[in-house]
Amino acid sequence: MDRAVQLQQRLAQVQGHVDELCAQHDRDPSDVTIIVVTKTWPESDIRHLVSLGVQDMGENKGQELSEKAAKCADLDLRWHFIGQLQTNKAAGVARVASCVHSVDRSRLVKALAKGAADRLVSQPLECLIQISLDHAVGEPDATGVRGGALRADCEELADLILSFPALRLRGVMGVAPPSGDARAAFNELREVSADLVGHHPDATWISAGMSGDLGEAIAAGATHLRIGSAILGERPYLR
Ligand SMILES: *Cc1c(COP(=O)(O)O)cnc(C)c1O
Repeated sequence: MDRAVQLQQRLAQVQGHVDELCAQHDRDPSDVTIIVVTKTWPESDIRHLVSLGVQDMGENKGQELSEKAAKCADLDLRWHFIGQLQTNKAAGVARVASCVHSVDRSRLVKALAKGAADRLVSQPLECLIQISLDHAVGEPDATGVRGGALRADCEELADLILSFPALRLRGVMGVAPPSGDARAAFNELREVSADLVGHHPDATWISAGMSGDLGEAIAAGATHLRIGSAILGERPYLR
């Protein structure tokens, strides 16, 4: 099948599914943004997606993001960085991303702020604090694997982000541990979000939910879904 047609059908399927889930949970679908995770997929897929009306793309490697952003500089895209980010790669990501979902330690905040100070785009870099959801499902702490800050450190990171004019605090992000109960994990994320919004009323974004757990994410109030394989197919190689 023609790739453009395939992507159109899968995107429509996912959007239809999201609409149904929103109806079930009494939510407005326009409050839920689908970020299409294009990691490992070529520029040509990004161009198909743009012609289908997608503007929000997700990548999880600094190098791949920089390369694709350069190739797609003619397109009006919002790049979301969703992977674990080494401090020495932060400036490169800060130059092209519109939002970093994986902010989880103070050294990274400082590195992003420095990189965002000489951004190509003029808006501040949007930041989500990634929260480790491992204990929510009774797993040993695996912050080294999936990344994420401890819940107890969220407020301090929020204050640090707010101290830099080049950064904008938008909310929280979480990845459900694959072996655990996604519902419990995302409920914990919702609680962390409520605490954060209590102090910072603008920081309302909840980035949660991938192809396999978008139902649990929408139930728990996700505002941003990160969907890869349900739209683009199984990735050519594992990452
Ligand atoms: C790859 C990735 C996704 C998308 O996963 P799918 O299962 O392909 O939808 C979402 N979030 C993060 C952090 C990822 O690395």
